[in-house]
Amino acid sequence: MPPNISIIFKDALQSLLNSVYPVKCGGCGKSGGALCNDCIDSFQRIDENTSCPICGRGMGIRSVCGECIKDERGFIEGRYGFFYEKNLREAIHAFKFHGRKDVGRALTNLLSEKIKGLSSTVDLIIPIPVTEKRLKERGFNPSFIISQVISEIIKKPVLPTVLIKGKETLDQSRLDREERLRNIKGAFSVKDGERIKGKRVLIVDDLFTTGATAREASYTLKKRGIDRLYFFALARAMT
Ligand SMILES: [Zn+2]
Ligand SMILES: [Zn+2]
Repeated sequence: MPPNISIIFKDALQSLLNSVYPVKCGGCGKSGGALCNDCIDSFQRIDENTSCPICGRGMGIRSVCGECIKDERGFIEGRYGFFYEKNLREAIHAFKFHGRKDVGRALTNLLSEKIKGLSSTVDLIIPIPVTEKRLKERGFNPSFIISQVISEIIKKPVLPTVLIKGKETLDQSRLDREERLRNIKGAFSVKDGERIKGKRVLIVDDLFTTGATAREASYTLKKRGIDRLYFFALARAMT
């Protein structure tokens, strides 16, 4: 089955299942919708006024953190949704590993006020890609789903085929810092680079931990002359 047909089939199957079984909250499993109000209230949002403008680390004030001064991230500014913990972590798991695209969309829509501010800053949106193999297994790329919602909010196009992931990598969350850098090195390449020449690009990912993936993607795009890079992640590790 060609991949797009299988994605359509999975979507149809999902909506059929949703009509038979009531939708459960991605955070706590309670019936009634993609995210229940208790979970939404419990999610810790990252406040731009009290965090590092590049990596989102909590600082008490808006100020570039020591790590971002010492070690260039590759992008000039970052926007982060929630701290990755408790029910938010469950919701992201439901989204990424259990096909709950509705949960991913709902989470991103909760951030619409934060996202709106990007409309005057960026020209186009590039999701952090997954490999062909992973796309076939999972049926979708979580970063692409987030990018679609951002695109609806800021009315800027998503370019999902410019940044390509050719190398399968190990799950970054299971590795230490050095291993993460090694694991992701050389994982990305650019196709049709002329489409992004001179543009201000927003790179989108579901989760930011050490920043190794965001950095590798940024430097891959920078090699093609893209300097105005911004980054968005739905969630960020606490540390
Ligand atoms: Zn809930
Ligand atoms: Zn920082």
